[in-house]
Amino acid sequence: MQLTNFVVGQWCAGAGTGQALRDPVLGTELARASSEGIDLAAALRYSREIGGPALRALSYAERAQLLTRIADVLTANRPAYVKIALENSGSPESDAAVDIDGSIYTLKFYARAAASLGAARYLQEGDAQSLSKDGAFQTSHLLLPLRGAAIFINAFNFPAWGLWEKAAPALLSGMPVLVKPATSTALLTWQMVQDVINAKVLPEGALSLICGSARDLVEHVSFDDVVAFTGSAATAARLRGTPAIVQHSTRLNVEADSLNLALLGPDATAGSDEFDLFVREVVREMTVKAGQKCTAIRRALVPAALQASVAEAIAARLAKVTVGNPRNAEVRMGPLVSKAQQQSVLDGLAQLRSQAQLVTPDPAQFRPIDADPAIAAFVPPALLQVADAHAASLVHEVEVFGPVATLMSYADEQDAFALARLGLGSLVASVFSADDAFTQRAVLELAGSHGRVLAVHSAVGKLQTGHGNAMPMCLHGGPGRAGGGEELGGLRALSLYHRRFAVQAGAERIAGLRAQAASVTY
Ligand code: NAP
Repeated sequence: MQLTNFVVGQWCAGAGTGQALRDPVLGTELARASSEGIDLAAALRYSREIGGPALRALSYAERAQLLTRIADVLTANRPAYVKIALENSGSPESDAAVDIDGSIYTLKFYARAAASLGAARYLQEGDAQSLSKDGAFQTSHLLLPLRGAAIFINAFNFPAWGLWEKAAPALLSGMPVLVKPATSTALLTWQMVQDVINAKVLPEGALSLICGSARDLVEHVSFDDVVAFTGSAATAARLRGTPAIVQHSTRLNVEADSLNLALLGPDATAGSDEFDLFVREVVREMTVKAGQKCTAIRRALVPAALQASVAEAIAARLAKVTVGNPRNAEVRMGPLVSKAQQQSVLDGLAQLRSQAQLVTPDPAQFRPIDADPAIAAFVPPALLQVADAHAASLVHEVEVFGPVATLMSYADEQDAFALARLGLGSLVASVFSADDAFTQRAVLELAGSHGRVLAVHSAVGKLQTGHGNAMPMCLHGGPGRAGGGEELGGLRALSLYHRRFAVQAGAERIAGLRAQAASVTY
């Protein structure tokens, strides 16, 4: 099977044999992807010249209806997507749901959120302000949709959500989308784009797809395009230096590596509600999607007196997690997405083990359920711990993108906050404490180096939405090594796809422009 590209309004096969997409349990080839020979400059021109004007002719409310129709198409085809996620990503249905249902939920959220923007085609922020003593000359800030293309270069771990969490605010803003999924898991993205295109729910040129290498794609960007990248810090650094991006000051939003933190408060005691909630969350984050989530907990920080009991409690829970072929109904955790990722995680684990000790059994002894370890891409959950969190520099530097976390302890509150900052910027921190005053101090401290802070105590233990779940209402992105990007956060996401400008004019003219704009409130 060949994954075709959808560009210039047509499905086109790339040249050559392309790259193979495989089942990470059985090792079988599922499809091949190639973008060779595709004219990527022409693909971008088509998006800008055909898709952009068609979308911008619609109001926000009309574009919101497009999102609802996409969500309906995805809902109708859900069973086929679950099967693809099983075959191409090795996902048990619960993991597939995070990606697929997360996409549908996010699209519907943005469709609803846009209701307040109504029939407008541009936005206004804040009130008009006077520039003259009598108020007859004023200024106002308006936001116009960008006239270029929204180019998404995505990571392998969310082939569905990675597209739709970006596409929802981009399409709503009136920008056409060109998506390049990570090749190893591109089958689900390809199928979804095919279904949406076949359903004819979008205007011509509003959605394009490149399967296989990005090749020279970013060399053709212009000042009105947006590049939204999710992936490794190394690729992000390469993209930042792309001459066309530098020359045109093209917007580049980066979501990259992250050493997310969970902090157990100093008030916790073994067996307290917050202790148990912390242990459960660490185990959940290590095992959901086999730890292949950019938001997964990588560093678990606890009071020194509790390190042994937390290690014991996490290890006991992990021992009950069944790992193997997700076609077996008993299995809770599947493989990594490819042999390459398995090797990358084993290499990262070996690096961490030069400074940290394994708490869980040695992965070398592990045998997956119903799978051949020589062919399949499994890594069992691995909890490490360090005696001195300041001396173990690697646990604050190396992101192992799999079911791996390191437990470490702090001496006092200030020590905990200092250790949190050693991650040099991450997506999420969570704090588990029954102490209100400590929690408030922790939230404000952790926010200095994390894009989102989750505070959990027993009263919200069952309500909280999870450390690793990127809710569309909440900002997704983090400073420093996490890339410095911002996605989601409700209607805040629209600002990436709009350009803010100031208009200075007579009061009546300002009022006339503002009368046609939707006020954006966050
Ligand atoms: P990657 O190697 O950087 O690949 C990411 C994407 O970039 C893929 O689509 C890849 O295409 C493409 N790419 C690679 N080289 C490129 C180049 N020179 N020009 C343009 N595109 C290029 O990252 P990965 O290893 O797949 O993903 C894992 C990383 O993603 C982890 O570090 C994780 O933290 C991060 N991540 C972050 C988030 C977040 O929201 N912050 C979410 C998920 C993952 P090919 O697949 O064709 O090589």
